[in-house]
Amino acid sequence: MVIIPAVLTKSIIFPGSIIGGFASIASMLVIVIGVSLALGRGFCSWGCFYGGWDDGASRIVKKPKIKKINPVFRWISFAVLLLVALISAASLNPVYCDWLCPFKTVTEFEKVTSVTVLMKTIVFLTLFAALVIILPVLTGKRIQCTTLCPMGALMALTNKINVFDVRIDKEKCSSCEKCIAACPTLSLNKEEMAAGKPSITCMKCGKCIDACSKQAIHYHIKGTPVDKNFSWARNLFLYPAFLLLVIFLGGPMQSGIILIINLIKTGTLIN
Ligand code: SF4
Ligand code: SF4
Repeated sequence: MVIIPAVLTKSIIFPGSIIGGFASIASMLVIVIGVSLALGRGFCSWGCFYGGWDDGASRIVKKPKIKKINPVFRWISFAVLLLVALISAASLNPVYCDWLCPFKTVTEFEKVTSVTVLMKTIVFLTLFAALVIILPVLTGKRIQCTTLCPMGALMALTNKINVFDVRIDKEKCSSCEKCIAACPTLSLNKEEMAAGKPSITCMKCGKCIDACSKQAIHYHIKGTPVDKNFSWARNLFLYPAFLLLVIFLGGPMQSGIILIINLIKTGTLIN
C-alpha cells in the first residue's frame, strides 16, 4: 500500500499520522525486514498487537461450537493481498486501511462527519464483530488473521526466506490429529501431515507443539535433521521471538504502568 504508490508518485501515502517525518516509516521497514528474516510469519503470533485481538477471542471458549472448517479459507488473505496491492497502485490510496481494516474500530477511530465516513465505520464495525470476535469465539481459530489480513499473507510469504520452520517427525507421530485441531490458522491438515510440515501460512505460534503428547512436532532449523536438535531450534527461535515481543510491548506496557500509578495517586486516568 505504501511502496507501490511511492515508486509511482515519489511521495509517501500512509494511513495514519507519521511522527518525525519518514523516519518512522524507515524504522517500520527495518523492523519488518528484520522480523521476516528472524521469524517469518512468526510476526503474527509473537509481535502483532492486532492479531492479539482475535487470538484472545479464539481462546475464550474451551470447546468451540464450530469444529470443522475447510482449510481452503486460509488462501483468501492472499487474494486480498493481491487485490489491495493492485487497487492501491491504481488509486494511489491505502485501500485496506481506508475501507477494510477491522482494527479501525479500536485504533485511529475516525469521527463520523460524512456519509462516506459513516459507510466506512459500518464496514469496520461489521468486520470487527464478525471476524475478530464472533467467528473466533465460535471456531477457536484466528479468523481475521487467517482469512482477511493482507499483512499476514505477506508475512506468510516471508516464511520461505526464514531459517525456522515447524516440522513433524513422522516416526514419532501417532496420527492422533490433536495438532490439526489446535492450529488456529488452518495450517495443518492430512496432506500437510503426510508432507511432514504445515503450510506456508503457519505463524509459528507453537500451539500444535503444546498439543502433541508424542513430541512429534517441533520448531526446526531448515537444513538440519528433523529428528535431532529440536530443543536447540526451540531456544534459538524463542530468543528473537521474545525480543520482538519486548520491542512491541515495551512502550505500551511502560505507558500502562504510568497510567496505573497515576490512577492510584490521583484517582483519575486523565493527566
Ligand atoms: S499431535 Fe503429534 S502425534 Fe498427534 S498427529 Fe499431531 S504430530 Fe502426530
Ligand atoms: S502449524 Fe502449529 S505453529 Fe503453525 S500456526 Fe498452526 S499451531 Fe501454530
